[in-house]
Amino acid sequence: MDNDFITMTIGKQKNIALIAHDGKKEQMMEWCEKNKHILQKHFLCGTGTTARMITDRTGLPVKGYNSGPLGGDQQVGAKIVEGKIDFVIFFSDPLSAQPHDPDVKALLRIAQVYDIPIANNLSSADFMINSSLMNESYDHKIINFHKNINDRANTL
Ligand code: PGA
Repeated sequence: MDNDFITMTIGKQKNIALIAHDGKKEQMMEWCEKNKHILQKHFLCGTGTTARMITDRTGLPVKGYNSGPLGGDQQVGAKIVEGKIDFVIFFSDPLSAQPHDPDVKALLRIAQVYDIPIANNLSSADFMINSSLMNESYDHKIINFHKNINDRANTL
């Protein structure tokens, strides 16, 4: 069915969320420094500590949400749902346990639901940031949530 999906556009200027677990913060700082000339063309935000550290280190303006363990990942997820974040660099740490592991999983899931590009390691981030699509707008299909609610309310 055609109206099962709606077309959304990731603009030429992207709304990028930057998140790094503690063990990956240095990697994130170095990556942001290396890619500053690209990142400065976009709107940046991130979880609290990551955002602050990137601004201190690079001078890039990064809007900070709460710290990750205090709900920052959930705030980023909510902004994805609202269509206000459309690109995520998330250097998670696979070698240490996180108190907010359910929030981390929730963020990955919601990025998948909304077809948002999300990099969770350095090489993925490098491939994404150097894609020619960074300089273009990009149309993608998202589940039509109005129709989805309509259908569910009428059938359940
Ligand atoms: P932080 O949160 O940027 O506040 O450290 C990141 C995270 O652990 O998700």
